[in-house]
Amino acid sequence: MVKQNTVDKEVSLEGIGLHTGKISKITLKPATDNKGIRFIRVDLPVKIEIEASWQNAVSSQAVRGSVIAKDGAIVYTIEHIMACANAFGIDNLIVEIDSSEPPILDGSAKLIAQAFLDAGKRELSADKLIYTIQKDMRFEFGKSVYSIFPCERFEIQCSIVFDHPYLQHQQFAITNINQETFIKEIAPAKTFCFDYEIEALQKNNLGLGGSMANAIVIGLEGIHNTEPLRYDDEFVRHKTLDLIGDLYLAGHQIKAQIVAQRPGHKNNINFVKEFVKRAQLLTASG
Ligand SMILES: [Zn+2]
Repeated sequence: MVKQNTVDKEVSLEGIGLHTGKISKITLKPATDNKGIRFIRVDLPVKIEIEASWQNAVSSQAVRGSVIAKDGAIVYTIEHIMACANAFGIDNLIVEIDSSEPPILDGSAKLIAQAFLDAGKRELSADKLIYTIQKDMRFEFGKSVYSIFPCERFEIQCSIVFDHPYLQHQQFAITNINQETFIKEIAPAKTFCFDYEIEALQKNNLGLGGSMANAIVIGLEGIHNTEPLRYDDEFVRHKTLDLIGDLYLAGHQIKAQIVAQRPGHKNNINFVKEFVKRAQLLTASG
């Protein structure tokens, strides 16, 4: 039987939060069996622990990032950390955080993946559990469509569509998501926004920490950044990264093929809530 695991040692990262604009520090720490991924707000007078699960996900607040909340405490923009934990197969983890949002770093999951590599992996004694499905399913939430098919691996096909002269349609498929493929194909893809959105986002107190250093800014004729794109299809790869993170709100890794059209955080969470009701939780056999 495959065993659960956690990180082997503590690793910290520091930087500005994308939406809050506040400097924060996170520390990845080992956790024991069956704990899942837990964020702990260590800056509050009484520390509050929030399990990163669909039960604590606030889809109404998941406008430009995934949000978890419990007992009045909140953590914004957890998806890049969740994506790394999912891809690395980390079942149990403590993420201490001294603010309401982790650092956005370079806007991708590259440095977070490096932190997970630095932290290493430690096997625990409990059996690993994974979600599988027996038959195809399809869910539609507004413009987002999620189809899911039985599969021995964790596969994603993702497509995005925008009514914009520079970015109209991209699609990306990855047939075996694991630590190695994630680091090579997905982790470096940066977050993005359209230039015309910035003013409105900031009026709504979003993107306050955003800059050319941590987001690709798309204009009518191309990107405004001087750093070239890391992949021709970087935008859909980043959406795939976000989806991998949001899917881990299921609480366990998923073995299935997921075809997502126009995914977004809010609908990713809606999908996970429906998925867990219908999926089977099994002991992982390999
Ligand atoms: Zn993202």
